[in-house]
Amino acid sequence: MCIKIMKKNTIIISGLTVMMHLSLSCNKIQDVATDLLISDEQEIELGTQYKAQIEADSDDYPLYTAKTDYNQNLVKYIDSIGRNIARHQDDRDIDFTFTVIDNDTVVNAFAVPGGFVYIYTGLIKSARNEAEIAGVLAHEIGHITNRHGAKQMVKQFGISTLLDVLVGDSSAVRTVMDISSGLLFLKYSKENEFEADSSSVEYLIKTGYNPSGMKTFLEFLADMGGGTASKLATFLSTHPPTDERIKAVERIIGRKSSDIQNRSITDVKYSP
Ligand SMILES: [Zn+2]
Repeated sequence: MCIKIMKKNTIIISGLTVMMHLSLSCNKIQDVATDLLISDEQEIELGTQYKAQIEADSDDYPLYTAKTDYNQNLVKYIDSIGRNIARHQDDRDIDFTFTVIDNDTVVNAFAVPGGFVYIYTGLIKSARNEAEIAGVLAHEIGHITNRHGAKQMVKQFGISTLLDVLVGDSSAVRTVMDISSGLLFLKYSKENEFEADSSSVEYLIKTGYNPSGMKTFLEFLADMGGGTASKLATFLSTHPPTDERIKAVERIIGRKSSDIQNRSITDVKYSP
C-alpha cells in the first residue's frame, strides 16, 4: 500500500520518503498522506456518498423516522446531545449529524467520515443514563475529529482509488461504496480507540457532562456478557473494552478536578 501511494503521488512523496528514513511505520505514513491529500471537503463528499448508501439500505439500516411526536422527541433528543458535544470541540470545523437506526437488537453506534454519526435504538435502550449516551456519541465524534474513518479508507483502498471516487469513476465508486460486506470503519485499531476515548473525555468535560459515560457503558456491557452476548457482540467487537483501554480513560479522568469527577448524572429523557 505504501508503494502504491509513492507511485501515484510523486509530488508529495519526497516529503514522505524523508519520513520513511525517520522510520515512521507504513500506517503512520498512510495517516500523514490522508491528512495531506484528502481535504475536509473531499472527506465530507466521501462520507455523503456513504450516508446515501446507508440510508438507501432500509433492511440493514432502518431509520427511526420521526412519525410520532414521541419519535420526533427522541430524534431531537439524541441530535441535541450530539450537536451540543460537537459544538464544544474545536478540533475540527465541520457539521455533524446524528441519526437513529431503528433496531433494538443491535447495541452499537458508528461514525462515517465527514461528520455523520449513527446510533442504534438498541444502544439507547441499554444506556443507563444520559452520560453514557453522551459518552458513546462523544467517542464517535472523536473518531471523526481524528479522521479515523478516512485513514481507514486510505489503508483499505489507497488514496488514488478514493480520489477516483471523488471524480466519479464508476468502478472505484462500486469498490469503495460497497456497504454490503459491512462498514469498514466499524473496525478501528486499538490506538484509534484510545485516541477517540481520550478526545471524548475532553469533549464531555467541555460540554458539562460527567466524562465517565463511555467507560461505565463499556464496563456495564462487558459485565453483562454471558447469555446476552449475541446482542452485545457488535458493540464489544467494534469497541473492544480492553482493561488497558478502560484504565487509560480512568487515568485521564483521575487527573481532572473533583468537581468534574463528581458531576451529576441525569436520567435518559427519551428511550425508544
Ligand atoms: Zn470506537
